[in-house]
Amino acid sequence: VDIDCDNNPIDDTIIDQMKTDPHQLILGIETSCDETAASIVEGGRHILSSVVASQIDIHAKFGGVVPEIASREHVNHMLPVIDRALRDANKALSELSGIAVTYGPGLVGALLVGVAAAKGLSHATGLPLIPVHHLEGHIASAYLADEALKPPFLCLIVSGGHATLAEVKDYAHFEVLARTRDDAPGEAFDKIARVIGLGYPGGPLIEKAAEGGRRDAFFLPITDFLDSFDFSFSGVKTAAINQYRKIEHEAQQEGKDWPSSVGLSDFAATFQETIVQTLASHTKRALKETNYRQLVIAGGVSANKRLREVMSEMTKEIGVRLTIPTLSFCTDNAAMIASAGYYAWQSGRRASLDLNAVPMAELDDVNRFVVG
Ligand code: AMP
Ligand code: MG
Repeated sequence: VDIDCDNNPIDDTIIDQMKTDPHQLILGIETSCDETAASIVEGGRHILSSVVASQIDIHAKFGGVVPEIASREHVNHMLPVIDRALRDANKALSELSGIAVTYGPGLVGALLVGVAAAKGLSHATGLPLIPVHHLEGHIASAYLADEALKPPFLCLIVSGGHATLAEVKDYAHFEVLARTRDDAPGEAFDKIARVIGLGYPGGPLIEKAAEGGRRDAFFLPITDFLDSFDFSFSGVKTAAINQYRKIEHEAQQEGKDWPSSVGLSDFAATFQETIVQTLASHTKRALKETNYRQLVIAGGVSANKRLREVMSEMTKEIGVRLTIPTLSFCTDNAAMIASAGYYAWQSGRRASLDLNAVPMAELDDVNRFVVG
């Protein structure tokens, strides 16, 4: 098939209909990491279906996501997952108004599978193709949880690949206020869980191990920068590994798995508390300086109960409204991509069939697609 990329295949009547109809159905597609997902969302807020085929069990054997395996699994699952999303919503492709897809950031081979599927469907149906940034999706997951939520607000996105504070000035207008200069908090949870032998993914396992543990069993550094709100988690990660080596040594001398001074739950609770307090202190400072009255926390790490508790206390103290998406929409899913896609389209964003995966895309990269 010859595809003329300069010649946009989108039918103008569809564009007009989308701008006036609040019940537009958007198909969202997400394949940036190890979840193959598709979803149908109405009007940006109402989920008709959300299908997620997770590969966690496959990657768990290797202690982390193996990119090549992830791509192959996406290829196997992409079309059945889209088909299931349509069937669960009881909708046909012809009833949709647009196709939104995560084009970045993420693993390039994984992203390409979703982007190719979305382009194929767009070409076959004539439906508009809407490029969505993965973090924009995480931000939009809050619209699915909180009907009253409207921009502007501050959003903290914490996941396996990100620690980002973004100013959400409007539904499709973002400015990055801070990011991590090295590791992401989810990455630190995963690494420490692996070192202490808990397995993968580390966040939920450390959270469980931390139950009942002392949160100040030993010292770990909280990293701050005087001149910015940026995060850094490599220091705390290294300090925790060094601490674990000491514990191992002590345990060997006592002939036990864990020494009597610091137990597994103490270690996990102290590590978790340091990550949570770091996120809370940076976010509090950013809220005070920017004066936003609403905070959204999104991304896989926002599933953490201790983080939710500390953030809830902090925002109450300074009079800021807090929204955290329900647990199943904290981790990667396609409903958040469909929701973000709806608002992106309303803002005038669309892509032609030369859309490519962008593994390192920054949040403000989406601005290049806006056609007004
Ligand atoms: P994402 O990158 O958004 O798909 O989220 C996955 C990351 O979130 C992984 O690094 C997990 O370890 C982390 N994560 C998931 N649940 C929790 C939790 N309850 N506490 C801390 N981290 C978590
Ligand atoms: Mg994610």
